[in-house]
Amino acid sequence: VKDKGRNSYHFFDSTMNETVLNKFALENDLRKAIEQDQLELYFQPKVNPLTHELVGAEVLLRWKHPERGMISPAIFIPVAEESGYIVELGQWVLKQACIINSGWQSQGMPIVPLAINMSSANFRHPDLLAGVQRSLDESKLLPSFLVLELTEGILMQDISSTIDTLQALKTMGVSLSVDDFGTGYSSLHYLKRFPIDELKIDRSFVQDIVTDPNDAAITAAIIGLAQNLKLSVVAEGVETTEQADFLLQRGCITMQGFLFARPMPKGEFERFMMQSLQM
Ligand code: C2E
Ligand code: CA
Ligand code: CA
Ligand code: CA
Repeated sequence: VKDKGRNSYHFFDSTMNETVLNKFALENDLRKAIEQDQLELYFQPKVNPLTHELVGAEVLLRWKHPERGMISPAIFIPVAEESGYIVELGQWVLKQACIINSGWQSQGMPIVPLAINMSSANFRHPDLLAGVQRSLDESKLLPSFLVLELTEGILMQDISSTIDTLQALKTMGVSLSVDDFGTGYSSLHYLKRFPIDELKIDRSFVQDIVTDPNDAAITAAIIGLAQNLKLSVVAEGVETTEQADFLLQRGCITMQGFLFARPMPKGEFERFMMQSLQM
């Protein structure tokens, strides 16, 4: 019953987005969302299913719109990106994530890296490096506990500047993860030149690994690639024990998905962390 209550809100889907939501109204509302405290960071655990160890978490943004209810980031992030408001939004998420994680550490919670999703405009912003450094300094968070998730689409936009920026972030001590890996057009040649730490297998592959031989082959290939390049590999969207078993058999031991935990608000995630301490 509790579970049902927690998940009883529903997200607008994309067809509703077009017909019901007025993009401009949404854009306007979004500008007020931060100051009116309508945005909230949710946290989804990354776990090792063999040891039940909590190995990290991803920050996923939620917008509680006063009239429209919960709006999915799949809807409002693209709106923020188009309007340019994503710059401010992204800086806010980065700052909040660092403050929250540093707060947990000083409270004696399990020490885990926290990953944030980064949009292109934030990654390409001239203030990126200074902004990341400022967030780390002000929160007193060690850089190794900050992970930036960057899609391969973002990385491939301007390769030489990408390499410079990634290198500078690595020098700062921040971890770098390639998000939605396999869905874009990343060249394996460049992958080797990017100073990255982790590949994240997209949910679209994980979904059908048990039934679709193509997705199974792609997933196995990504895991092999990560192992050969000495990168960590994380599978997202793991929903069934069959999927988890497949991934474990292929050597992917870090997973994220509803099978283990949904994205949850801060208080609930803190209880999750405390439980993981007792295991
Ligand atoms: P993503 O980075 O690929 O994040 C994973 C998405 O998969 C999340 O959707 C998460 O809730 C969902 N998910 C995780 N496990 C499962 C599972 O087992 N089954 C299913 N069906 N779904 C699962 P969410 O939270 O709706 O976020 C959607 C996208 O919005 C994210 O995709 C990311 O691209 C973007 N996003 C979210 N927060 C931020 C943010 O703070 N900044 C930026 N730039 N983008 C964000
Ligand atoms: Ca992500
Ligand atoms: Ca994804
Ligand atoms: Ca498929």
